[in-house]
Amino acid sequence: MRKTLSYDDVLLQPQYSDIKSRRQIDISSRLSPDLELTLPIIASPMDTVSGFEMATVISRMGGMAIIHRYMDTIEQVQTVMDVKKDDSSAVGAAIGTGDEAIVRAHALMAAGADVLCIDVAHGHHSLVQKTLAAIVPTAQAKKIHLMAGNVATPEAVQDLAKWGANSIRVGIGGGSICSTRIQTGHGMPTFQSILDCSAVADEYGVKLIADGGIKNSGDIVKSLAAGADFVMLGSLLAGTDECPGRIISMDGQKYKEYRGMASAEAQLSWRGRTSSLEGVASMLPYRGSVVPILQQLDNGIRSGFSYTGAHNLSEFAAKCQLIQQTPAGQVESSTHIKVRYG
Ligand code: IMP
Repeated sequence: MRKTLSYDDVLLQPQYSDIKSRRQIDISSRLSPDLELTLPIIASPMDTVSGFEMATVISRMGGMAIIHRYMDTIEQVQTVMDVKKDDSSAVGAAIGTGDEAIVRAHALMAAGADVLCIDVAHGHHSLVQKTLAAIVPTAQAKKIHLMAGNVATPEAVQDLAKWGANSIRVGIGGGSICSTRIQTGHGMPTFQSILDCSAVADEYGVKLIADGGIKNSGDIVKSLAAGADFVMLGSLLAGTDECPGRIISMDGQKYKEYRGMASAEAQLSWRGRTSSLEGVASMLPYRGSVVPILQQLDNGIRSGFSYTGAHNLSEFAAKCQLIQQTPAGQVESSTHIKVRYG
């Protein structure tokens, strides 16, 4: 049976560096010829992460959000148009599959979305193929980028690329609010999936987005080392002012909800019933604005490039050296000070 690797199983070997300041480092990544993100972070299309505020602020910081699809088409179209007032903003919008999704896709393309994202739990699927077939001609004519997923294998990346996707979300079952592996026994560590898929993505000229289970900027750097072009974040951005949803006060503490889109709570609110439950809902401590969080992640990625001695993403990808660590190494890698009183 094959052994696979997760983020915590690996590290990057430090290397000679001549970088004197993190500002000398360029962490930008190109999604398409017309769309470059100076911060390779994309906010998840979830109803507790990506609405108007997140899209506006993360775009200003160099990243991008995918506006979630759990609202009616008119509201999603209006949200995309609101974000594009500011001409320099990049914004994506999520759709599902099937006839309703195709109608929604055309409305979003007319509204000026830069990216359309076919957002389903199991992306290596005939329904994704059919939906892509229906929207590829318009997307190509209007130079709109098509993202699709989620998938976990090189075969899936190859198929989605042939079906017309320009970028592919990779990661099944790794999300912090995800119970897919518990519910279905299926999944693949996101880090391993990226490692497996990166060669075929290069061959087909599609971009890879590491999605699910990224806990810190170290995991972002490891994703880029494994071959991802971007990361997609949910929990790392959740609980902030820019996420949709109210601040909830409980026992003197403030919280915001963060929930999987296949959780009972999310399903009840967007379709009034539940079917297969593959996510959970949680309350995260309220964290204020997402701006300092994004700044910290930006700094962490830059420092990561500096430890490899890389000035930009292509240099980083060529030079980085991934190593595997033992369970003892994992303990040593976490903060492990022992505090004794008395
Ligand atoms: P996180 O960054 O680890 O919190 O993971 C966020 C990712 O989890 C999203 O970008 C989706 O790919 C995935 N996701 C969102 N909702 C669910 C769900 O209900 N079940 C499984 N995965 C989910």
